[in-house]
Amino acid sequence: MPRCDLLFRDALLIHGNGESGVTGDLAVSGDRIVALGALTGWSGGREIDARGLVLAPGFIDAHTHDDRALLGPPAALACKLSQGVTTVIVGNCGVSLAPLSLDHRPIAPLDLLGDERWWTFDSFAAYATHLDAHPPAVNALAFVGHISLRVRVMGDDVFRPARPKECAEMRSLLAAALAEGAAGFSSGLAYPPARAATTEEVIAIGEPLARHGGLYVTHMRDEESGVMASIEEAAAIGRTIGCPVVISHHKCALPENFGRSRETLALIDRTAGQGDVHLDAYPYAASSTALLVELLRDDIPVQITWSLPHPSAAGRMLDEIAREWAVPPIEAARRLQPAGAVYFSMDEQDVRRILAHPRTAIGSDGLPHDQRPHPRLWGSFPRVLGHYARDLGLFPLEVAIHKMTGLSASIFGLADRGVLREGAYADLVLFDPASIADRATFTEPELPAEGIREVWVNGRSAYTAKGGVVPDPAGRLLRRRPQG
Ligand SMILES: [Zn+2]
Repeated sequence: MPRCDLLFRDALLIHGNGESGVTGDLAVSGDRIVALGALTGWSGGREIDARGLVLAPGFIDAHTHDDRALLGPPAALACKLSQGVTTVIVGNCGVSLAPLSLDHRPIAPLDLLGDERWWTFDSFAAYATHLDAHPPAVNALAFVGHISLRVRVMGDDVFRPARPKECAEMRSLLAAALAEGAAGFSSGLAYPPARAATTEEVIAIGEPLARHGGLYVTHMRDEESGVMASIEEAAAIGRTIGCPVVISHHKCALPENFGRSRETLALIDRTAGQGDVHLDAYPYAASSTALLVELLRDDIPVQITWSLPHPSAAGRMLDEIAREWAVPPIEAARRLQPAGAVYFSMDEQDVRRILAHPRTAIGSDGLPHDQRPHPRLWGSFPRVLGHYARDLGLFPLEVAIHKMTGLSASIFGLADRGVLREGAYADLVLFDPASIADRATFTEPELPAEGIREVWVNGRSAYTAKGGVVPDPAGRLLRRRPQG
């Protein structure tokens, strides 16, 4: 009689490949799925009656800033595990902890990962060795950030294009990181410390991506009126280097650009015909990043997420603080800095159109160190499954799951993950499709989701609805393995 460590009986198995679920059993031994289907005659060290519940591959958060959260205790990743997330992609928007060590507070947006105490990894190998020795509670795949490289090579003199010698130095730092296990190169060209970088600079630094099978991921130069030119730039960078491209947290921000996702998605489809281009998105019509004066406009409500000089401002609206201080909002923002904010700057119809696009993976863009974070940190995945798939019918449940499992695994080269298959890693989530829902809101942003019963990482229980995060981390730093 075949025996396994963990046996699920009568689950609705949704495989992660976009196909409809089938009711069946699934067996796990060690860190792998060893069988699935009708497993009569099997027995397990632990058996779970999963009738009425969905068993799916653990969710992959395609866009995070969890570089530092991975270094903390397992409970620091409750925001991920409580949503069913078992793998996070880190080092996005040009911001990565490695390879950079600092002796003073970093400029925005690097400070979203914390002050100088957190910047101690002089090489990607140092970060990887640390994670290998101190496993995180979820798996991770890590990118190297352009802004981190710029600060490493140019110091605080980053508000200008890099010189050829500096590009060469950044290129060799990237090549070393790729050899040490980084998955690729990320940019945040909209941010002041990278805005002066030319397209040629990004190409010059990114050149080793082709040789190493790396990926270029980008928070584009312009997500507002210049969004079309930014997509052209991202695609041209990928074509010239010869690497796949992921457009991060795609959006068409500001009222004058509402509705333009029709054009942007059509352009992405056209460019994807000449090269590999994908995108990620989070399920909210508000963004969040550093509080930057140039992002302020009268018609965009702004909520403060943290402020170093005024911690009590977190959670409050900027215009209300400005009224209280009897100063214009721009002056209030200056007094609050360094600070973070939520910007209510998108159109719900664009959000839906982008989420539904077949090239879109789900990425939370959650900011785990913000005092009053955007609710995407705790709610993104259950919100897609509950609100958008089940309640609004934006797409079927199996498509929603594909966007957070199989699709992401294929974009990021996560071999044997994101799929229920014999031999695949047992990253699993068991949830109730009738009750799954996000509870985090802009006023109560840290409420855990409802409906997730239990989560497994590499075959080990990592989270239960009753007990929370299991204090025994089973995550791993993953290496990109592009298929075919
Ligand atoms: Zn970004």
